[in-house]
Amino acid sequence: MLRCLVSRCLLTNPVAGQTRKMSGGSLAGSQSSLAGKVAIVTASTDGIGLAAAQALGQRGAHVVVSSRRQSNVDKAVALLQSEKIQVTGTTCNVGNSEDRARLVNMTVEQCGGVDIFVSNAAVNPFFGNIMDSTEAVWDKILDVNVKSAFLMTQLVVPHLEKRGGGSVVFVSSVAGYQPMQALGPYSVSKTALLGLTRALAPELAQSHIRVNCVAPGVIKTPFSQALWQDEDIVDEFKKQLSIKRFGKPEEIGGVIAFLCSKDASYITGETITVTGGMSCRL
Ligand code: NAP
Repeated sequence: MLRCLVSRCLLTNPVAGQTRKMSGGSLAGSQSSLAGKVAIVTASTDGIGLAAAQALGQRGAHVVVSSRRQSNVDKAVALLQSEKIQVTGTTCNVGNSEDRARLVNMTVEQCGGVDIFVSNAAVNPFFGNIMDSTEAVWDKILDVNVKSAFLMTQLVVPHLEKRGGGSVVFVSSVAGYQPMQALGPYSVSKTALLGLTRALAPELAQSHIRVNCVAPGVIKTPFSQALWQDEDIVDEFKKQLSIKRFGKPEEIGGVIAFLCSKDASYITGETITVTGGMSCRL
């Protein structure tokens, strides 16, 4: 029995793409190189998504960026091109099934396949007491933040399998561990992503796909403006932080790229908190 298990392990293929020849760049041949990989990052024309695209692109991946507005896509593509990153851009509202399918099909047609999927999109249309939140609020938050993350993964996985494996990363939040005041429904949606990561990881490991998650603390982006523009809130947050400042998008982008690289080849089903030391788990 043991011998049988051992020989099965030895016969197992390595995660796809990781054996493909690395091309160019100072990282070529290193464990962190993503040369030859194709990465879809949702909601990637600003903030954490854009920083993830930059980090993946800097490591050699061809990145596919998208968001709802064409003007934002055009700006992000121009920025990434100016940084010599291989990039393709299109509009995609992740809450729309046709948009999701178009994004994946376009990537496969134009880039030849997919190796990495970063599910970064989220909305928060509600601030207040959770008991005042409506069905419409819950529908919107769960549709965009949770359902679309799963449905996009379901669309992408067959393409990762065609490459022999790959990597999926969900963007959750510190609020997924410790619900934030006035952000009840959003926090619950982010907790669901911790569960989704753990539910998918064992099933997809059979296809050599690793599934991980990042839970950022407060990161200075347009999304969190209400927090970092109010000095009283900033002071209150700083009391909870070991590193006495809010995070920068690139400090999340680098962790996402790490999780997609060979450096993380034995990590799956995991959530990495990136919070400047905010206490949110054991
Ligand atoms: P951000 O800077 O405001 O950027 C949001 C991006 O999402 C934009 O590119 C926007 O472009 C796009 N977008 C919004 N709705 C979309 C939709 N339905 N479909 C596709 N794209 C959409 O936000 P962020 O702070 O980077 O947040 C990114 C992720 O990090 C979210 O999952 C958020 O929950 C999480 N997070 C953020 C923080 C933080 O402090 N910032 C903390 C924890 C977790 P368009 O307007 O063109 O669509």
